[in-house]
Amino acid sequence: MSVHVLEAPAPEAELRPGGRCRLCGAGLEHTFVDLGMSPLCESILTPGQLDAMEPYFPLHALVCETCFLVQLREYVSPQQIFGEYAYFSSYSTSWVAHAKAYCAMIKERLDLGPDSLVIELASNDGYLLQHFLPLGVPVLGIEPAANVARVAIDKGIATQVDFFGTALADALVAKGRRADLIVGNNVLAQVPDLNDFVAGMARLLAPEGVITLEFPHLEHLMAENQFDTIYHEHFSYFSLITIEHLAGRHGLKLIDVDELATHGGSLRVYLAHVGSPRPTTVRVADLLARERRSGLCDLATYGSFAEQVKRTKRKLLAFLIAAKEAGKTICGYGAPGKGNTLLNYCGIGTDFLEFTVDRNPYKHGRFTPGMHIPIHPVGAIDARRPDYVLILPWNLKDEIVQQMRHVADWGGRFIVPIPSVAIIDPKEMQS
Ligand SMILES: [Zn+2]
Repeated sequence: MSVHVLEAPAPEAELRPGGRCRLCGAGLEHTFVDLGMSPLCESILTPGQLDAMEPYFPLHALVCETCFLVQLREYVSPQQIFGEYAYFSSYSTSWVAHAKAYCAMIKERLDLGPDSLVIELASNDGYLLQHFLPLGVPVLGIEPAANVARVAIDKGIATQVDFFGTALADALVAKGRRADLIVGNNVLAQVPDLNDFVAGMARLLAPEGVITLEFPHLEHLMAENQFDTIYHEHFSYFSLITIEHLAGRHGLKLIDVDELATHGGSLRVYLAHVGSPRPTTVRVADLLARERRSGLCDLATYGSFAEQVKRTKRKLLAFLIAAKEAGKTICGYGAPGKGNTLLNYCGIGTDFLEFTVDRNPYKHGRFTPGMHIPIHPVGAIDARRPDYVLILPWNLKDEIVQQMRHVADWGGRFIVPIPSVAIIDPKEMQS
């Protein structure tokens, strides 16, 4: 089964209109952006489901005036999202390379060896932990999606199928397991109970251990119109200011931060116990200061984002309408979660995109939620020879343009929708 079992939001959620901040508990009153009603973006449909009713939930992001966490209410439980998950990290070549480089770097930096333990939270199909095996560093993956964890286990990566929080952390500590390194890549956004999750990390971390977390940086989301990275499965959107607040609540301190190009601009933060002798680099203070200068401690900054999003939608639609009026054919590339926010919010269905393609065979023969665009194997683009290929996972555009540059053979070009409509002609790249 690939599609979540859907239920209405819990009744108690309906009793509190704005809800409370999942980090600090303050009442939420301020809209960040309201993307209207949208289906769950990982709920790709089988042909048999096309005639059934499809649940839509509000995609309305709010910002907390106290800790500045941008967040969605929880309309779907992680159990529903991760019971059977369709996202396999290893399908992205560049992401696996990124993970490999990280493993080599962090092994040196923390002097990890055969007596160390690396624990990754949301270890997916072992895309990252696999690189520690040849380095001789023991690992443990924690992954809630059984079908994805199975792939890691088959590669020889010890993986426990479970959700992470204080309960699991205590159980591991009781068995004598403490982590010298805890890795959490693109998981923090998907944690409904942030405080339980971070408290669990603090309990599981060895006294001199280090936590590294990667997540898309809210500063980039705002500066580059990445509104399509907002979807129901992503509950939270972080600045470093918010992370510092979160760490402080759980006896952790920021010791370093890297700015990464992944996922449209991410942060990798390094945390340690407050009492750890590890010093904090100047990069932390510098980035905190930059965020303050960018207005990330000012509600008015957040309030201006919504208009920017509407402008981005109008520009993309204007381009697609003009292309269709000129008789052009358009197909999609990719069926990522973010693509479904974009397609649903902009109302881009099969009237614009004949189909989309994906490298993940799990999605083939299925349909995108809401817009019901068919998902084919990548070869379908070669058969159709479209004038334009709309790249939905725009964060991977360089990789995709390289892989698909032969669309130039029939005069095809790429459309990149975010931060604003851009056309890439692979012919020009070859020159
Ligand atoms: Zn808050």
